[in-house]
Amino acid sequence: MPFVAELFEPASDEEVRDALLSHGPVAIRGLGTKDLFGCPVESDREISTLGIKGIVEWSPEDLVVVVRAGTPVTELQSELASKGQCIPLPSASDAATEFTAGKPGTVGGLVSANLPTRWDSVSRGVRYWVLGVRAVLADGRIARAGSKAVKNVAGYDSQKLFIGAWGTMGVLTEVIFRTFPIARFSGEPECIERIGDWSPGRRPVIARVPRVSLAGASLRLNSGGVVDHSEGTLWTDYSKKLQSYVEKSGGWILCAGMGRSNFPIHGPQTDLMCALKQRIDPHRKINPGRLGVF
Ligand SMILES: Cc1cc2nc3c(=O)[nH]c(=O)nc-3n(C[C@H](O)[C@H](O)[C@H](O)COP(=O)(O)OP(=O)(O)OC[C@H]3O[C@@H](n4cnc5c(N)ncnc54)[C@H](O)[C@@H]3O)c2cc1C
Repeated sequence: MPFVAELFEPASDEEVRDALLSHGPVAIRGLGTKDLFGCPVESDREISTLGIKGIVEWSPEDLVVVVRAGTPVTELQSELASKGQCIPLPSASDAATEFTAGKPGTVGGLVSANLPTRWDSVSRGVRYWVLGVRAVLADGRIARAGSKAVKNVAGYDSQKLFIGAWGTMGVLTEVIFRTFPIARFSGEPECIERIGDWSPGRRPVIARVPRVSLAGASLRLNSGGVVDHSEGTLWTDYSKKLQSYVEKSGGWILCAGMGRSNFPIHGPQTDLMCALKQRIDPHRKINPGRLGVF
């Protein structure tokens, strides 16, 4: 756990804004289960999102839930389960590909990390389930993007800016999710293959490779793993030969362990992301350094 010299524990958007405007840069943290991925934030001031919790609104008949971003994922899932619904993550007892399943995190962390799940072939991944967000931006503005309508109106899907941004674009305070019937997510998707008796070891990785390269990548697994043949995703342990194979095939690899070399942000997307950050948070107030590139 990183050293924290000053801790803010806001319970509302306004308190998040006050913390952001008070002075210097801040780190955003939910339950910290993804601390072992990415780069350290260059600040010892922290905003904990854990006070921003609870379900705001849920229409089971419309399959839409509005939830505050500090809500633990397990709390959301157990509430949705009471009416046979879920957001499509593996269950706690079946979450071998979730490296931190013993320590479930928050809704905001889930959206910000945007990691693959074993149900992506059926549910199309986090980017598809998030219909909208509310976020506090670095200059204190409270922004809304998207809506509760599953069929969205014309315009930019600005909520996607925050998905997979690892907290660098703003502090999420609310997320609107599409919910799914639990019945669609029992057992294991057909495209999942388990190789060996694998559970995440000392240095787990998630790798994405073009599907044509997947067989080659699978052969390079050290100690077994889980392969999603539909999405080209591998969950396994680190090995140099896997890393170089994935990189040569034009894929990416996210390794547990701090530092830029473990984090798959490079290539043409980097310039676009830096330009967006410059526009939204020019003074690098929120999570500076977290992505390694800004
Ligand atoms: C049973 C189970 C199975 C799961 N399976 C999967 C799975 O297959 N794939 C998957 O991806 N996840 C899965 N999850 C979810 C995952 O474990 C965590 O919920 C989430 O990824 C991390 O949450 P956290 O609060 O620990 O994030 P943290 O480690 O606190 O934060 C992660 C990143 O997000 C940023 N962040 C956190 N909160 C906010 C916010 N409110 N606004 C802006 N930035 C923020 C942080 O700055 C950091 O960069 C599963 C959860 C459960 C309970």
